[in-house]
Amino acid sequence: MTSPAKRAAQRFRRMLDTDKAIIAAHFALARRETDPSRATFYAARGYAMQTCYRTTRIVVHEPDDDAPYTTMHTARQCRSRTCQVCQRIHARQTRRLHHALLERIWRHTPEMRISLLTLSMRNRPLAEAKPALEDFTGAVRRYYALKEVKRSHHGVLIGVEAAIRGDDANPMIGWHAHCAQLITDACMVEGRYLAIMRIRELFRDCLRVDYLPQCWIAASKPDPDGDTRQPDRNSTTEAVKYCCKPVSYLSANPPKDLFGAADAPRFHVSPDVVRYLTEALHNRQLVTMKGAWAKARKEHCAEQRTAKRNRRSPSSPDPFQSDEFDGLPF
Ligand SMILES: [Zn+2]
Repeated sequence: MTSPAKRAAQRFRRMLDTDKAIIAAHFALARRETDPSRATFYAARGYAMQTCYRTTRIVVHEPDDDAPYTTMHTARQCRSRTCQVCQRIHARQTRRLHHALLERIWRHTPEMRISLLTLSMRNRPLAEAKPALEDFTGAVRRYYALKEVKRSHHGVLIGVEAAIRGDDANPMIGWHAHCAQLITDACMVEGRYLAIMRIRELFRDCLRVDYLPQCWIAASKPDPDGDTRQPDRNSTTEAVKYCCKPVSYLSANPPKDLFGAADAPRFHVSPDVVRYLTEALHNRQLVTMKGAWAKARKEHCAEQRTAKRNRRSPSSPDPFQSDEFDGLPF
C-alpha cells in the first residue's frame, strides 16, 4: 500500500508528463504550420504552457488529526484549455463555486436532489471537431428548451466534454454533456417524469439524426449512514470538471504502461488532437446553467459584488474627512 503522499506524487507526475507531451505537440504544430501567424500562435501557446509546466509544484500535507491533502503552486497561469496545470486550477475553482451554489439552493429548498443526465452523440472524425461541437451544443440548447423537458426538473447545470477516440490513423472525437438536473419528489410523478427511452428519442430529434443517441440518467443515491448530500456534490463536480480528460489526449496512441513503471515510455500527443481541439474550443462557453442554478448564481454574484464594495470602503474614516487631517504637507 503506497502512502497518500506517494500516490499524489505519481498523479502529479502523470499530469506533468501529459502536459509535456501537449507542449511538444504545440511546437510540432508551429513547425509544420505554413501560415506564419498560426505558427506564431502555437509557438506562443507552447512557451506559455512551458512556464506553467516548469513552475508548478505540489505540497502534500499530512495533518495528524485530518485526512491528507495536496496543494498546488504555480508562478503563473496561461489559462489555455489544453494546459493541464491551468485546467486543474480552473476545475478546483469551478468546483468550489458550484458547491457554494448548491449550498445556496439547499438553503432555499432543502429537499432538492440531483439527477445526472449524460447526453452524447456518435463519434465524428477529429477534423470535424468544431462543427460537431456546434451541432451538439445546438442540440442540447434545443433539448432544454422543450416544454416536456422543462417540466421534468427545476434547473440544470450543463458541462460539455470531449473524448478523443479511435487511433492515430483514424482519430475520432465524441462530444458529450453531463447535466446536473435539480429534482424534487414533485418531478417524479406521471406527466413530469421522463424515462430514458423518451429522453433518447427527444434528444435524437434535437440532434436531427436518424440513430438513437446514447444517454444515461442516474439520480444520486444518498448513503443513509454517511453524508447524504455528498453524492449530489459529486454529481455537480462531474458536470463541471474539465473539457477534455487528461488521459483522453493520449488515447490516440496509448502508451503500454500509462500508470506506473519508471521506464514508462514518453507520453505522446498527436499535434492534430491539439490543433482541432484548440480550434473547436476557442471562445466557447462550455458550462451553462438554467433555472434554480442560474438564480443561485445571480444571488451569489450580487452578494460577492456587495462584499467587494464593502471591502473597498472600509468603516475606518476617510483621512480627508477626519478631524486629524489638517491639509497637505506643504
Ligand atoms: Zn497553463
